[in-house]
Amino acid sequence: MKDSSLWEQIKGHDKTVNLLRGVIDKKRLTHAYLFCGPRGVGKAKTAATFAAAINCDQACGTCVSCRGIQNLTHPDFHYISPEGTQTILLSQVTDLIKKIHLTKQNNGYRVIIIDDAHKMLPVAANALLKVLEEPPERVVFILVASDMNNVLSTISSRCQRVNFSALKVEVVRDILINDLKISKDKADLAVMLSGGMVGEAMEIASSGLLKVRKTMVDAIVAEKPDTARSVELASLLVAAAKKRTAKIKKDQEIEVKEAMSFVEGSRGAATIKRNLETRHHRERARVEHRCYQQALVLVASIYRDLLVLKENADEKFIANVDLSFELKSAKIERAQLTSALANIDEAKQRIEQNVNPLLAFENLFFTLEAVV
Ligand SMILES: [Zn+2]
Repeated sequence: MKDSSLWEQIKGHDKTVNLLRGVIDKKRLTHAYLFCGPRGVGKAKTAATFAAAINCDQACGTCVSCRGIQNLTHPDFHYISPEGTQTILLSQVTDLIKKIHLTKQNNGYRVIIIDDAHKMLPVAANALLKVLEEPPERVVFILVASDMNNVLSTISSRCQRVNFSALKVEVVRDILINDLKISKDKADLAVMLSGGMVGEAMEIASSGLLKVRKTMVDAIVAEKPDTARSVELASLLVAAAKKRTAKIKKDQEIEVKEAMSFVEGSRGAATIKRNLETRHHRERARVEHRCYQQALVLVASIYRDLLVLKENADEKFIANVDLSFELKSAKIERAQLTSALANIDEAKQRIEQNVNPLLAFENLFFTLEAVV
């Protein structure tokens, strides 16, 4: 990590960053913020940086407080996110409230991040509402949400709203190439396929999904159905997601080691470790789930490209431009393409409902082959 402030690492949100830095500089903290904007643009990262800045003006990233917030060992910092991938439960919020009252406060502020706050169950939201109505002293809540339709208005009206907009394509490219060290070609493709969302683009570029694309296109344009190929494709997609989470697990293990070296031997070290591991587990589940959704985005992109080509639209409008030769050889009717897209949407719903992903993909490819 660089020595400079953590703020420097946030890209494409200069106005928002200036606003938040101003809050810290002028000491105008309020008790609750709601960070809202599209998914995967860096809201959670900004929230973590703001949390660090609340207790270290510079958000230096290297002091005990900043590092404690980054690796969740700070006694006055709490982070909650949806259980599994679905919802934030009442028990998570009541546990949190207990912790706020129990933890001994050091000199600074207690900071709470509620990630994906739009996934809070109504009962959980109502429990939180009570705290927001009568906030304890020196506590700051940062709610992060990408779907404002699912945030209770009673909650949002008690928070200071901080808006995030979609990142410009050039910014996403810059993050992928310079921060994540992804090759230019891969980055371009990932940006195109993600619709400009950095989180998505990052997932696409680092999951190995791009490698499966060629096999997928070959299968789709092939004229004869092939069950074995469908099964293989499904397992390739699942393997790509598993590989991605295995990589993340390695990074997380390092994080746990680092965090433990800070708190070793102290009271509560075991709890800190357990909390960190629970969070890591959730993170992995989330990434895996996202990979599956991304895989479906990729499958859909191929059919969409085929539709574009069918309309004789310019090749530059297709996403899988590097595979245009293969795509052009497809002999699939328009009606079949639209029905394939509907099947992909259905698979998306099934994955959302936590159906076994391998089964969902196998099913999808069987259906797609039958359609063609
Ligand atoms: Zn610091």
